Amino acid sequence: MKVSKIYGTLTFNDRVMRDKLSHEVYKRFKKTLEEGEPISKEIAECIAHALKEWAIENNCTHYTHWFHPLTGLTAEKHDAFLTFDKDLTPIERFLADELIQGEPDASSFPSGGTRSTFEARGYTAWDPQSPCFIVEGKKTNTLCIPSVFLSYNGDSLDKKSVLLKSIKALEDSTKKLLEVAEFPVPEKVFVTTGPEQEYYLLDKDIFKQREDLAITGRTLIGANSIKGQKLEDHYFGSIPDRVKYFMEDVELALYKLGVPAKTRHNEVAPCQFELAPVFEELNIAADHNHLVMVMLKKKAEEHGFSLLLHEKPFKGLNGSGKHNNWSIADNRGINYLSPGRNKEEFLRFLVFFVGVINGVYKHEKFIRASVASAANDHRLGGNEAPPSIISVFVGTALGNVLENLIEGNFVEPEHSKTLEIGLSYLPQIERHNTDRNRTSPVAFTGNKFEFRAVGSSQPLGLPNTVLNASVADSFNEISALIQEEKSRGKNREQAILSALSTVLKKCHKIIFNGNGYSKEWQIEAEKRGLSNLRNTPEALKNSFGDTKERDFLIKLGILSERELNARLNIKYDHYSKVIDIESRMLVKLIKKYVRNAAINQLSHFSKIDFFDYSAYIKAMKSMEEKTKSLIGEIANFENMEEGEKKAFFAANTLLPLMNELREVADFLETETDKSLWPLPDYDSMLIL
Ligand code: ADP
Ligand code: MG
Repeated sequence: MKVSKIYGTLTFNDRVMRDKLSHEVYKRFKKTLEEGEPISKEIAECIAHALKEWAIENNCTHYTHWFHPLTGLTAEKHDAFLTFDKDLTPIERFLADELIQGEPDASSFPSGGTRSTFEARGYTAWDPQSPCFIVEGKKTNTLCIPSVFLSYNGDSLDKKSVLLKSIKALEDSTKKLLEVAEFPVPEKVFVTTGPEQEYYLLDKDIFKQREDLAITGRTLIGANSIKGQKLEDHYFGSIPDRVKYFMEDVELALYKLGVPAKTRHNEVAPCQFELAPVFEELNIAADHNHLVMVMLKKKAEEHGFSLLLHEKPFKGLNGSGKHNNWSIADNRGINYLSPGRNKEEFLRFLVFFVGVINGVYKHEKFIRASVASAANDHRLGGNEAPPSIISVFVGTALGNVLENLIEGNFVEPEHSKTLEIGLSYLPQIERHNTDRNRTSPVAFTGNKFEFRAVGSSQPLGLPNTVLNASVADSFNEISALIQEEKSRGKNREQAILSALSTVLKKCHKIIFNGNGYSKEWQIEAEKRGLSNLRNTPEALKNSFGDTKERDFLIKLGILSERELNARLNIKYDHYSKVIDIESRMLVKLIKKYVRNAAINQLSHFSKIDFFDYSAYIKAMKSMEEKTKSLIGEIANFENMEEGEKKAFFAANTLLPLMNELREVADFLETETDKSLWPLPDYDSMLIL
């Protein structure tokens, strides 16, 4: 099998464009892609025609604008190419207007109040930067046109349009910084991203027996598994055949879509796996990550599995993340976060390296909020996931360089050593300048930062929008400082070094190379004045809901006040709804499964007169009381108006009650005969 033969065959790629477009149109379109030149109607008409021809040759009957509304999912509305001529002859038609703009009935997508009913219309607009692709059906196929989604008055109602604005802001601020610091300025700067996607796979039949998993994505009750991940024997272990066949299918489908799936392996927890692609330009990586998630789910179903993207499906086992590897590159192939090969390159690296650290420091609260969700709350701080305190890991070698830099001294790091492994026939392995640190939410890993707090089900849009904007804001600050130093008569190198020293004096607080899971770090972080936003409502209130914190996004032109308010509302509502569904599901589980199992067990116990089952009875009583109070609080909750207060009520009243109730239910499960317990337990779920 030659993957290069099938790679990208379902995308409107360069080869197809060369083939289908005239040389002139092809050249103009490439210019658009490379330089952001607007597309004329004429060119769009040619492209629409070529797209239609190509799509029909590839068995497409329909097309759709494919976009990312604020629900976090992708959306599409399919239209047939089929129309009728004046004399009612059926023909296939696809015009430039249909390529450029769509008008789905948008009134049901969340807008967070940015639209009133009379302007409920929303528009999708083609994003020519991301290649159109074909989704295969059973008998016919559909042409998908990556698009942004805007309201009637131009407010952004999606994740892509805002992401694109943040990429532009970062590009502008990078060029400015390069210019001010007197490094060569390239034509094009872009962000590169490689998201490592974690997921759980379960047997479909077992999954279906767990209503909580099926409806809420996580187990709301369930005693810990006996073995769990204690032996860590699953990590990088051999992949079970059944799973490997599934992975092969996923990868082949992704290759055809031009998604560069690269790595597959077992993760730490049983039944947990990972797929990592080769990094790409961020806008495309974000689209591709959506395709990865969709394809994983689809192929899992075909192979008799259910695939979980939830951030914490099982208590006591690792959650799933999406480690977001992130860097800045240019059209000459330079990676601005690569330490380089000589002094000049290392100086440039330092400017950007410190720039990113300072960006994370300045906007730590927003960065925390960008990954906040009801599901990810269970993961941040849990086993193996980074904590909800945002910090940056830089490693010892670079840590030393920065300490010197604070004093204004420029030293290069020790050259990375080769590992002495004592096996002369193995190639020499270079030790990375940064060691692995799995507990850091933002870790520097040699030539890129890894934003590890992103959750497995989260689209790349928001976390990267906020990261880009934070860094752009920091770059602008550093540019201004360098200019200031120069105007005071400092030479270029002195000006750069003093600017970096000034910035580092403030932002070095965010650097932490130790164990992020430890209690000491929580205390230390508090002393340093770093925030610890433990749950989603807290994170939202201190970011989207804080006029001072969110101001940089407005100033950079990435989100308007209205758009920020809209997102805040949507996020509060969504959070409340998730906890609403979970709490009612928990009550249902107790009433329909657990209570009855416990009563049956009790009747068995009571047949034996020497048996002491007082603890069991106590737990049953406690379960009844807690269920009653949860039901009462759910009633109060449902009467509340959507918004901040309701979300806080969910986090501070409902969730703690749910946790208490779970604890009792899990105790009862451990003490109850397997034949009486109607739900599959952790041990039987986590076997493939
Ligand atoms: P590791 O497994 O050590 O974290 P890898 O080199 O395997 O590192 O990369 C993990 C992910 O990071 C991959 O998706 C990879 O493509 C991505 N990556 C590597 N270099 C960059 C970069 N310069 N920018 C963005 N992502 C990158
Ligand atoms: Mg990694």
